[in-house]
Amino acid sequence: MKKYKIALIKGDGIGPEIIDEAVKVLDSVASCCGFDIAYTEAFMGGCAYDITGDPLPQETINISLSSDAVLFGAIGGEKWDNLPREKRPESGLLRFRKELGVYANLRPAVVYDELINASSLKPSIVKGVDLMVVRELIGGIYFGEPKGRDENRGWNTMVYTRDEIIRIAHQAFKIAMTRKKKVCSVDKANVLDVSQLWREVVIEVSKEYPEIELTHMYVDNAAMQLIRDPRQFDVILTGNIFGDILSDEASMLSGSIGLLPSASVGAKIGVYEPIHGSAPDIAGQGIANPIATIASVSMMLRYAFGEIIAADKIDSAIKRALSEGYRTKDLAQYDAKEVCSTSEMGSIIANYIER
Ligand code: NAD
Repeated sequence: MKKYKIALIKGDGIGPEIIDEAVKVLDSVASCCGFDIAYTEAFMGGCAYDITGDPLPQETINISLSSDAVLFGAIGGEKWDNLPREKRPESGLLRFRKELGVYANLRPAVVYDELINASSLKPSIVKGVDLMVVRELIGGIYFGEPKGRDENRGWNTMVYTRDEIIRIAHQAFKIAMTRKKKVCSVDKANVLDVSQLWREVVIEVSKEYPEIELTHMYVDNAAMQLIRDPRQFDVILTGNIFGDILSDEASMLSGSIGLLPSASVGAKIGVYEPIHGSAPDIAGQGIANPIATIASVSMMLRYAFGEIIAADKIDSAIKRALSEGYRTKDLAQYDAKEVCSTSEMGSIIANYIER
């Protein structure tokens, strides 16, 4: 029997509650689909700081790098907000992504029919939206040199190398091959030299994927098109800063932060996590929505392990729970037949999988 090693990082706030439900669902899909999971728990964030004085202990990096994937909850909270910057949970998370070399951030935005009224856009615009933003994560203007400031000037440099563009482009094309086979590369090639190189290299890489329909769009137009007609997109491939902005914009199409998963992947390993934070305002009350984390498990099975049937089973079970009217408190105003707790939602989804 196949066995996958997973590093489990629950973190702070609602992190432990949502990860427990994700594990419940993962165990049920593993037993249905005939594979085994070995979990190793590791600590990160405020809880790790409280125990070790470091928000990212070396042991957590070691456990993660010796696993097949990392399932991550969320970190942070007011209790740690006044620590020196390098001791804060959020610094631990940035360091973690860098240590693991995760260069591609995958952010799907899916609009569930049952929650169409939760979107801030009209149902006629968002019905059927199912897109994925593939964002380069460890290059571009956030990391480029030179950068600096004096009293009267501030400067950053947007730089991409051919190799950085090649590896993120492959990632986007491979994902598109498992979807509708469309990639829209977003850049600012009418103004930026770095974007001209980006476009040239993306076109070169696309020759290895003849089945993919590749288009290009300037980022200002892409920001508008996402609101005007989001259904035109399948995979959006873009750099760090453009992806940062567009993926947040895309996430609002679905209307709820508690629904959206993400993956950050690299050559060695991937980190699978909800897009939301640790929600300290609702921690410990059993009302957090676990669906974003459960959907992150589906991404892990699909992209890290190639367990497509298992991933599809999770996605269908989530849809079924929503279509039968089960809602956690955050979505209670959208056609709820029954408002359930975090743990009840996990059990409902796990039961659908077992059936
Ligand atoms: P947040 O995402 O934690 O919460 C924003 C709002 O959404 C809150 O009202 C919260 O109750 C609600 N919410 C979030 N997730 C939910 C869920 N699953 N179900 C129901 N409601 C949910 O953002 P914030 O309040 O700005 O940040 C709180 C803490 O989380 C901060 O310390 C921040 O630094 C940290 N944070 C961590 C991550 C991460 O771990 N990747 C990401 C973002 C923020």
